[in-house]
Amino acid sequence: MRRPVLDHAECTGCDGCLAVCPEVFSRNADTGLIEVADLEAYPEACVDEAVKLCPCRCIAWEGE
Ligand code: SF4
Repeated sequence: MRRPVLDHAECTGCDGCLAVCPEVFSRNADTGLIEVADLEAYPEACVDEAVKLCPCRCIAWEGE
């Protein structure tokens, strides 16, 4: 299964992915890091939008 992965080392926390795809991306209240939800299937269009929008290019599909 394809799932989005996020490179925390590159993420600046701009919240862009949260804005376009909140059902997948969220911010952990304790660590402040962006997290990827564990889903059975991911909404492709919304994740693709986040991949395109991320200024740090740190979101990618895994398992392609
Ligand atoms: S859009 Fe990219 S840089 Fe911005 S919070 Fe999401 S993963 Fe981090």
